[in-house]
Amino acid sequence: MPDDELLQRLRRFHLDAFPQYREQFQTLVSQGQNPTTLFIGCSDSRLVPYLLTGAGPGELFLVRNVGAFVPPYDGSYGHHGTAAAIEFAVLSLHVSRIVVCGHSHCGAIKALYGEVSPEARNLQRWLDLGREAVLPVQCCPEALRRTEQRAVVLQLERLMDYPMVRRGVEEGRITLHGWHYVIEDGEVHVFDVRTGDFVAASKADSSGTGPYPPYVEHDGQVLVD
Ligand SMILES: [Zn+2]
Repeated sequence: MPDDELLQRLRRFHLDAFPQYREQFQTLVSQGQNPTTLFIGCSDSRLVPYLLTGAGPGELFLVRNVGAFVPPYDGSYGHHGTAAAIEFAVLSLHVSRIVVCGHSHCGAIKALYGEVSPEARNLQRWLDLGREAVLPVQCCPEALRRTEQRAVVLQLERLMDYPMVRRGVEEGRITLHGWHYVIEDGEVHVFDVRTGDFVAASKADSSGTGPYPPYVEHDGQVLVD
C-alpha cells in the first residue's frame, strides 16, 4: 500500500466510517471501556479478530504478538508487554473471558522447525515460548497443524500460572478459550478440554471453558505436567 493511499484511508475513515460510530465512541469515552474479553492472538495479518467474533468497538481487549504466546509468570518482572496486558485486563478491566487464538499457516510455528535470522535475537528468544509444542517429526503440514494447536494449549496452561488468572478461573469468574483459526476455511476450531481435541465451531458445544488440567494427547503423551 503506497504511503499516500494510507493517508487517503485515514481521511476516508474520519469522513465516512467514523460518523456511523460517533455516538458509540463518545459513550465509550464518557463511560470508559468495559470489554469482557481479553483476546491474545497472533500478529498474522490474516487473523482478523473483529471479523471472527463480530465484535465492535469496546468489546475486545486485544493483545497480539508473534505466535499468540503467553510468557511465563516467572517473577522476572521485565518489559513484558503481553504479561502486563494480562494483568491489566484481569485486575483492572475484570474481563470474564480470555481467548488464546492461534491459526493455520502460522509463521511463528513454522519457524520452530527452521531457521530464524541470527540478527533476530529477540525473536529467537520469543519463539522459545512455543518450543514445547514441537513434535519430534519431520516438518509437514499435519505436524504444523498439530503444533499450532499444541502451542495454543501450552499458552492456556501458562495463563493458569498467573495468580490473578488462576484465582478468576477457580472462582468461576473467568473462562479460558483455546482457538485455532483455519484461515482457508474461515472456521475457528475450539479446544475441548474433555477430549483434548480441537472441534470445529460448527460442531462444538461451547466456545471453550476452563480450568485446564494437564493436556494428554491421544497417544497418551502429556504435553505439560
Ligand atoms: Zn501466526
